[in-house]
Amino acid sequence: MAFTPNGKHLVAGQWLDGNGTFTSSPAHGPAHAFAVGTVELVNRAAEAAEEAFLSYGYSSRATRAAFLRAIADEIEARAEAITEIGTQETGLPVARLQGERGRTTGQLRLFADHIEKGDFLDRRFDAAQPDRQPAPRPEIRLIQRPIGPVAVFGASNFPLAFSTAGGDTAAALAAGCPVVVKGHSAHPGTGEIVAEAVLAAIEKTGVHPGVFSLIQGGNRQVGEAVVQHPLIKAVGFTGSLAGGRALFNLCAARPEPIPFFGELGSVNPMFLLPEAMKARAEGLGQGWAGSLTMGAGQFCTNPGIAVVTDGADADRFTAAAVEALSKVGPQTMLTDGIAKAYHDGQARFESRNTVKPLLTTQSSGREALPNLFEISGEQFLADHALSEEVFGPLGLVVRVSSVDEMEKLARNFEGQLTATIHMDAGDLDDAKRLRPVLERKAGRVLVNGFPTGVEVVDSMVHGGPYPASTNFGATSVGTLSIRRFLRPVSYQNMPECLLPEDFLN
Ligand code: NAP
Repeated sequence: MAFTPNGKHLVAGQWLDGNGTFTSSPAHGPAHAFAVGTVELVNRAAEAAEEAFLSYGYSSRATRAAFLRAIADEIEARAEAITEIGTQETGLPVARLQGERGRTTGQLRLFADHIEKGDFLDRRFDAAQPDRQPAPRPEIRLIQRPIGPVAVFGASNFPLAFSTAGGDTAAALAAGCPVVVKGHSAHPGTGEIVAEAVLAAIEKTGVHPGVFSLIQGGNRQVGEAVVQHPLIKAVGFTGSLAGGRALFNLCAARPEPIPFFGELGSVNPMFLLPEAMKARAEGLGQGWAGSLTMGAGQFCTNPGIAVVTDGADADRFTAAAVEALSKVGPQTMLTDGIAKAYHDGQARFESRNTVKPLLTTQSSGREALPNLFEISGEQFLADHALSEEVFGPLGLVVRVSSVDEMEKLARNFEGQLTATIHMDAGDLDDAKRLRPVLERKAGRVLVNGFPTGVEVVDSMVHGGPYPASTNFGATSVGTLSIRRFLRPVSYQNMPECLLPEDFLN
């Protein structure tokens, strides 16, 4: 049955009105009215989250695992309705919403399994040494503890997997931290139906209702208030560099600064080494075009820049990429604002006389067609703006004169989510030069693949040095992401009967 949003905020188990309404802007289907968020609602949600922490933060791992699995079940129970409103609001295809739902429920269950195993607690024990000279050593144990209420900003480009009950929320709830979600105004109805699923899981498992709240946006004050609320202890964010930086600055300026785990922009450069290019330039060009246009290029891991050595193989590579990109039809972007930013990005490239257009297209409104440009390594290094992310299916080929120049370029890149080497056996010496450079730049370094497609596993890092993220020690995907919402505590000479239960099971 079709889902009609109630248009309200969910605060600690209650659906509440806000201050006025905003109307959603779906790519197709009916628009709906949603209550605008207020500072007062943020206060209520944060206070309820702190209240919930007093029980949920000290609950057993089995209780939290059952809650996470119940959320996954409740999302599945609303599968068709979620897909329907999700496709309407975002313009993403049905198959994408279905796939993302599987990823979202998979993440929730992965975290349930993960906390049950207990490794994340990183339990450490140093036995007492009563006879040590010149002074005895006390017994010391260490364990990771949840930090308290966490704020999560839903991402526009993953309405399920990085949004209301997405990776940040799953990781925080798994850790024992209540969550206050600031919904993304690009998909408020999708946010609401997922919040409804979380509420059903709260009721089913009996956890404190303050463990989850969703405040819809429609007002910048909501985001500002949530990161500044004294009871909020950390923030998970995926979005733009400008928005992320503004919120990061607010977190740093608080009387009690808190960590802001922002996953921001990235151009995800690829370095195509000579032997690989000689062997399969066309295949690489076609593969790149596929990765660049997937989901209208609206992935944070979209490989926007390909660095190649000038010559006939580079010509074959660009010709194959142009041919493949020319066949890609218009795709609907997530919001009018994101489409406008894409068209502005295209105009930035077109305005440069240092940049050679390989494929330029005309798209307008909320639609995007691919664009491809080319520049020399020297000119690229002289124009910093060209190394900034254009969110969408826009690619830049950078032609360098040698692998030496390729390495120089690699050294000049800012922090990235990913960096990719394409190589054959004969490229090994060059790859050995690049690998140490690239691992300083990126959270994930790939060989012979394309970075779109982020596996949700134990060994995934989705993060990287600034501006890819605001915290290079963290990942927002995979089980390690729980670490963001924990802090180590040492217990010295504490009798066993007083220790947290997690030490004992
Ligand atoms: P955004 O503009 O950064 O917004 C993300 C969230 O932060 C929204 O909830 C927004 O609230 C809030 N926000 C942003 N600036 C704020 C501020 N100064 N104060 C308080 N709240 C603030 O990102 P977006 O809307 O998702 O997309 C816009 C651009 O972000 C895209 O064109 C793309 O460049 C980039 N993007 C990057 C990634 C990535 O994975 N790296 C993903 C998505 C988008 P409102 O809804 O009220 O504006």
